Amino acid sequence: MIFGVLPQKKNQYALRILGNCGEFTSEELLRLSELTAKFGNGKITATSRGTFELNGVSESELEPAIEAVQAAKLRLGGTGATVRAVVACKGTDCRKGMFDVHAFACRLDKEFYGIDVPKKFKIGVFGCLNSLGKAMAQDIGVMPSFTEPGKFEIYIGGLLGNRPVQGKHIPVPLKEEMVADAIRYVLDIYKTNGIYPQRLRTVLDDKKELWQEINYYFKSLAK
Ligand code: SF4
Repeated sequence: MIFGVLPQKKNQYALRILGNCGEFTSEELLRLSELTAKFGNGKITATSRGTFELNGVSESELEPAIEAVQAAKLRLGGTGATVRAVVACKGTDCRKGMFDVHAFACRLDKEFYGIDVPKKFKIGVFGCLNSLGKAMAQDIGVMPSFTEPGKFEIYIGGLLGNRPVQGKHIPVPLKEEMVADAIRYVLDIYKTNGIYPQRLRTVLDDKKELWQEINYYFKSLAK
């Protein structure tokens, strides 16, 4: 199945459209609206990861709908065994936001989005403690540090779905430029040790020494 295409009931399909870490321009939304009226059932669903889904595309309309989405320069994706679109809270504009959350998330999205992994891998960036629960629900959640201002706390191995588990806090605050190194390292561990359909948490809990390796690596980054 093409990335971004989700089979639905009644032989219909939904097309998942990604913004720029959750942000869409008004022009993009107008184009999406037109395509939904033309190819779908007129309804768009907002997802918890800041994407939109164009619903109700029939099998016969699927190919032209995909071509039209691509021609409209909308970003189809966010499915399959890949790193999913990075989620960001509104911390860039929100008064509680402690850093430019959107810019940081977009830098991570540019580097990591779409990388092949054993199952799927979710990264989230959040601007203050109010989203601690969300950070703990990501494969990698990034939060501002309260003990070392200007640095970031990382939570690893969170899961939602049918086996919700809170991500573990790695107690080594990292500078911003080290966060991508940390994510790269964890992704390598996941890709090297995981097989479909394992999520990161299963891989780490099956080989507990991997948690220790991650801790060591974070400490080496923080030196
Ligand atoms: S997590 Fe904090 S900074 Fe982000 S939107 Fe919520 S209140 Fe604002």
